[in-house]
Amino acid sequence: MTTVDSKRIALLGATGSIGTSCQDVVRASQGKLQFDTLTAHSRWQELAKACEEFHPRCAVLTGVRPQDIAANAFPSDVRVLYGADAVADQAASSENEIVVSAIVGAAGLFGTWAAVEAGKTIALANKETLVVAGPLIMQLADRTGSKFIPVDSEHSAIFQALQCGKNREVARLILTASGGPFRTRSQMELERVTSADALDHPTWDMGPKITIDSATMMNKSLEIIEARWLFGFPSEQIDVVVHPQSIVHSMVEFVDGSILAQMSPPDMRLPVQYALSWPQRWEGISPRLDLTQAFGLTFEPPDRKRFPALDLGFEVARLGGTAGAVLNAANEVAVSRFLRDELSFLEIARLCRSILSAHDFDAVPTLDGVLRLDHWAREEAERWTSLTSCSQPFSSPTC
Ligand code: NAD
Ligand code: MG
Repeated sequence: MTTVDSKRIALLGATGSIGTSCQDVVRASQGKLQFDTLTAHSRWQELAKACEEFHPRCAVLTGVRPQDIAANAFPSDVRVLYGADAVADQAASSENEIVVSAIVGAAGLFGTWAAVEAGKTIALANKETLVVAGPLIMQLADRTGSKFIPVDSEHSAIFQALQCGKNREVARLILTASGGPFRTRSQMELERVTSADALDHPTWDMGPKITIDSATMMNKSLEIIEARWLFGFPSEQIDVVVHPQSIVHSMVEFVDGSILAQMSPPDMRLPVQYALSWPQRWEGISPRLDLTQAFGLTFEPPDRKRFPALDLGFEVARLGGTAGAVLNAANEVAVSRFLRDELSFLEIARLCRSILSAHDFDAVPTLDGVLRLDHWAREEAERWTSLTSCSQPFSSPTC
């Protein structure tokens, strides 16, 4: 059921973990939400199935060609387009009122950028957009009047808590981290963990890339950088605390010492729905906390020695410029090499540190400059072995 008042959504990354959570939210919205556009990379059968159910105006595929898909796979009332340019065009289209940015990795930047250029409201799951081009995209949003509403659960929690005070009354943003599947493993055990171990997350069911990022705690690093640009606080006002139950999704400490937290069982449908219902709240579809049962919440400081990826996040959030693009690109390649068993678990952070140290840092880059270094970092990361490692400062042009 849709109504004339339905909010029309362009969902970029419809077949992923966030994308299917978003489909659940739209399905349960009783006509308050409808899809204008759905996009996917290669899983065209799943996209076609979603089109059968939701009948969007338009569907876009980026990783397959028209000849790769079955004839009549899509309903005849859905316009099917191909390629990354079509994603950008549809993200910017006046036919949608909100863009859900849920493509994984730096590939999510282009659609999000086009939406920001067009002055859209963006429900942002793709944290890599802000990691790669945070300062540039926030400046662009200032110019076009585009607004970001966070989907990432930590940033959604902070967004909600910030509504209880003024930015100048904030002492710090406290991001919670589950600690991932290896929270209690020793350094020696971490040397030997496999990709299958790392894909088994204790509290969240997510896509493979972010699941590996959670195991290394690189996900928290990317979230520190995301928070830096999204909320405009310096890295010195951002902290991380490990909270294995993933019930407290993050907190804001105000100058008087009050800490406001947002709590709920781990389920991404809640922050997705909040981003789409904001500034209202609607009846929720995710499970509630059962306060009739005894349960405990624990908090502990992160172990930065065993999880060195965290230091990278703080450093890159402080530096800005091209550092985020290089860290993100190096990490994307490192994660896929780890999944192909070409790197050990601990080499992921070592590779990232090494490529970051070797890059030609630019404090005020253009978008072209950022994309050039993204490309450079990917090539270096594909070639990297622990023997080519270096640990020189950022400004060094080469190892
Ligand atoms: P996923 O791998 O499950 O899904 C990714 C989606 O992006 C799919 O629809 C896929 O078709 C599409 N895609 C992949 N490569 C593409 C490309 N090159 N061009 C265009 N489309 C492409 O990923 P996910 O776990 O849903 O994560 C999506 C984003 O949301 C990531 O940035 C992630 O960090 C963020 N996020 C995810 C979660 C979660 O719980 N999964 C939580 C917070 C934030
Ligand atoms: Mg998160």
